[in-house]
Amino acid sequence: MAIKLYNTKFRKRVEFIPINESDVRMYVCGPTVYDRAHLGNARPVIVFDTLFRLLRYIYGLDHVTYARNFTDVDDKINATALARQQAGALGTLEDLIAERSDETIKWYLEDMAALGALEPTKMPRATQYVTQMIEMIEDLIAKGNAYEIEGHALFRVRSYPEYGSLSGRSVDDMIAGARVEVVPYKEDPMDFVLWKPSSDDQPGWNSPWGHGRPGWHIECSAMALDLLGGEFDIHGGGNDLMFPHHENEAAQSTCAGHEFANVWMHNEMLQVEGKKMSKSLGNFFTVRDLLKQGVAGEVIRLVFLMTHYRKPMDWTDAKRVEAHKMLNDWFVVLRKHGYSPKTVDKLKASGDWVADIELMGVLSNDLNTPGALARMHVLAKARTASGLVPLAHALEMLGLVSDWNVLDASSSQDDRMPDWVPVVIDRLIAERGAARASKDWGEADRLRDLLNTAGVQVTDVAGTASWLLGSGFNPVVLEGLK
Ligand code: AMP
Ligand code: ZN
Repeated sequence: MAIKLYNTKFRKRVEFIPINESDVRMYVCGPTVYDRAHLGNARPVIVFDTLFRLLRYIYGLDHVTYARNFTDVDDKINATALARQQAGALGTLEDLIAERSDETIKWYLEDMAALGALEPTKMPRATQYVTQMIEMIEDLIAKGNAYEIEGHALFRVRSYPEYGSLSGRSVDDMIAGARVEVVPYKEDPMDFVLWKPSSDDQPGWNSPWGHGRPGWHIECSAMALDLLGGEFDIHGGGNDLMFPHHENEAAQSTCAGHEFANVWMHNEMLQVEGKKMSKSLGNFFTVRDLLKQGVAGEVIRLVFLMTHYRKPMDWTDAKRVEAHKMLNDWFVVLRKHGYSPKTVDKLKASGDWVADIELMGVLSNDLNTPGALARMHVLAKARTASGLVPLAHALEMLGLVSDWNVLDASSSQDDRMPDWVPVVIDRLIAERGAARASKDWGEADRLRDLLNTAGVQVTDVAGTASWLLGSGFNPVVLEGLK
């Protein structure tokens, strides 16, 4: 099956031809680990996880290498560590920086797993690749593409005539429009930092240019080279990274003599209720905030898949409700037709677990997830084995189901879940309905909060409440109500 991908480099969709079909390689810029991931950060994760899943489907589970880094050297991490030290936290600054990165990485992986994202095959931390970064900078200096000045190493942008070709800008336009730092030691205002000096309260390594730390862009170039080689298939990230980050990565790696990425992919940004997500607008929230409110990770993921990755996406409460209903409807259809964790196991064992060719074709066309979801509606409507097997297959393939026990979640035939759980949930929902009918909002809210605390997500669609168990479902909370 042929995949087509939109390559930013050529500004068009082209057939994807891997360098080596038995080792397809993808690099995606990962987070700077200073705080919880906000909802926007989840977009590249879900987009490239979906691509990773598609590549694994086509080329085989063990034939795709996906590297996504953690940027664990950054002034924001230092600032948090310093503030903690000043507030009396024990340990050296280095310890506190490591502690902050470690805890943030742990949160990140938990939150992204809740959204159905598989762990990438390789998750390098920038601080583990400083030697490789230094080597690459030395190489660039030797080749005349970089220079050392006042404890800094800077990339000489004018030495690379292709600079700007990825993002489609000329150097002169960039100088006119960019917020480049004009400092006296730069040969040219466009030159960017490869290495910079560190003070005593900043993390630092010894280098030929003195005690210092790497710039952000060189991290990805060095890690991609080390883990994926000089030429690899796909490089991804958010649109906001195209310039200057990706332009700089490409310049460094190319000048160091590597082909670097064949296909560049960029996801568009996420907005909230039509507005840019920002702390000042009060519409800023993290993935964890949503999970804590009881929104199931699968529902969050489905909202993302409803928009094509190259279109701006809006997170709205209405979409959350719609996604919840879609998912629930699919589970209801499957359940009605006798699907259970056991039937899925049997299908897999018998070799009858097959994808819908049309759906895979749609998805392979530049990762058309809204098209794939539309096809799932058609399959669900057919209500035949030939429709429902591929529907179930697609739910798993798109990361919307990681555990088929979800099928038993609102029925009473679960091996895992005691019979009383759906009875209690249905009763609480009925009581909540009665409280709302008599305008007893306090009681209605109390019941909803109780269900949320138990990890039961309730959504009202056209006056009827439906429910799903979120990934944090905890029956203990409901035990006293049996
Ligand atoms: P950062 O930790 O800020 O470097 O961002 C990590 C990833 O999240 C990058 O790939 C960004 O492009 C992406 N990102 C940040 N904000 C948004 C947003 N509002 N919508 C989509 N992607 C975003
Ligand atoms: Zn990067």
